Amino acid sequence: MNENVETVVIGGGAMGSATAWQLARRGRSVALVERFEPGHVNGASHGASRNFNTAYADPTYVGMLAEALPLWRELEAETGSALLDQVGVVNHGANPAFDRVAEALSRAGLGAEFLAPEPAAERWPGLRFDGRVLHTPDAGRLNADAAVTALQTAAATAGASVRHRARVLRLDVLDDDRVRVTHENGTVTARRAVVTVGAWTGRLLAGVLPVPRLSVTQEQPAHFALRDASAAAAHRAGTEWPGFNHAPDRSDPLYDWWYSPVYGMYTPGQGVKAGWHGVGPVTDPDARSFRPEPVQLAALQRYVREWLPGADADVLEPVSCTYTTTADEDFVLDRVGPVIVGAGFSGHGFKFTPSVGRILADLATGAAPAPPLFALNRTPNAGPGGWLARG
Ligand SMILES: Cc1cc2nc3c(=O)[nH]c(=O)nc-3n(C[C@H](O)[C@H](O)[C@H](O)COP(=O)(O)OP(=O)(O)OC[C@H]3O[C@@H](n4cnc5c(N)ncnc54)[C@H](O)[C@@H]3O)c2cc1C
Repeated sequence: MNENVETVVIGGGAMGSATAWQLARRGRSVALVERFEPGHVNGASHGASRNFNTAYADPTYVGMLAEALPLWRELEAETGSALLDQVGVVNHGANPAFDRVAEALSRAGLGAEFLAPEPAAERWPGLRFDGRVLHTPDAGRLNADAAVTALQTAAATAGASVRHRARVLRLDVLDDDRVRVTHENGTVTARRAVVTVGAWTGRLLAGVLPVPRLSVTQEQPAHFALRDASAAAAHRAGTEWPGFNHAPDRSDPLYDWWYSPVYGMYTPGQGVKAGWHGVGPVTDPDARSFRPEPVQLAALQRYVREWLPGADADVLEPVSCTYTTTADEDFVLDRVGPVIVGAGFSGHGFKFTPSVGRILADLATGAAPAPPLFALNRTPNAGPGGWLARG
């Protein structure tokens, strides 16, 4: 069967679904094509929790956060779903960017306050704090599964065609204004193609357009049981666990066993999620083990024992998920002829989803260019560790 639309969006994870929503709500004809079933766990957008962490100093990211917050609320209103819980996020440890982050957030009208570790530990007894704490109260927790479902529902309600179990086999650029997408059940011809296929970006765009090196890793955070029911009670009482980010002091040998900074949050009904960031084994997205690497997992359990007194390090459920990361950990949002690319969201893209969708929709309609930070053929932005070091 052949379908003819203005824009075809390939890949129904968070970013593709947000782009389809943004285009459909502008009355544009759009088809979203996804290879797996709804709610699949093969990519990067599944699971019940993601940090809506606001601790950025880079003006491009802070601007996207300020845009994303009301858009998440609009999506909730449009679909009658609860997606974002502003439980706050606490950042601690040796991150040199905290002061710049606090300044950038207050300039953008987003909350940021510093707390000493002792009062912070009283307030959040499930966590142990490493030096002063940057608390960002507007931050919180997103329900990833519910968000992807809401985006696709809202897109379909606004007129988009949403197709699952339709793997795209090839993308042909016919001329500057026409593409043909061949998938397992037919073809789609369109003026524009938005390619948001996460870990499969390099594979699908091979021979179509040059993409920067993208490293695909299998990440393995885990949910740890609550030590006692207090957090569940706190959840009901609304004084619950904030999300958390903890940066190691690389100049101190006490942190030598750390793989990377640690992030986490409380996931209702599942426990306390904690994970290393971007250090999972490099993987082929079509040949994954979905099993955690045991040494790294043991180190994560040690972290929980030492820094999360409210969680039980020995009762855990591993999670498996992919990061697709550029050399500088900044995203790729750009257009070449009729093809728009959204890729490289690593472990920090979800919070920005509706804003990324708006940027990719703007690129597809020619409404606006993307921020230069995300250019396809850029020289890697300043320094490894990208936004984490830049703040
Ligand atoms: C463990 C983990 C924790 C994270 N924590 C956070 C966090 O706390 N805060 C935060 O902001 N971000 C976080 N992230 C990052 C965030 O989840 C990702 O950046 C985001 O989900 C990426 O979305 P995506 O749409 O690019 O990728 P994906 O969700 O992988 O979507 C790509 C889609 O393309 C489809 N596809 C692939 N090939 C084809 C084809 N040939 N035809 C059709 N469809 C195709 C795939 O099936 C998939 O559904 C985390 C990520 C992981 C893995």
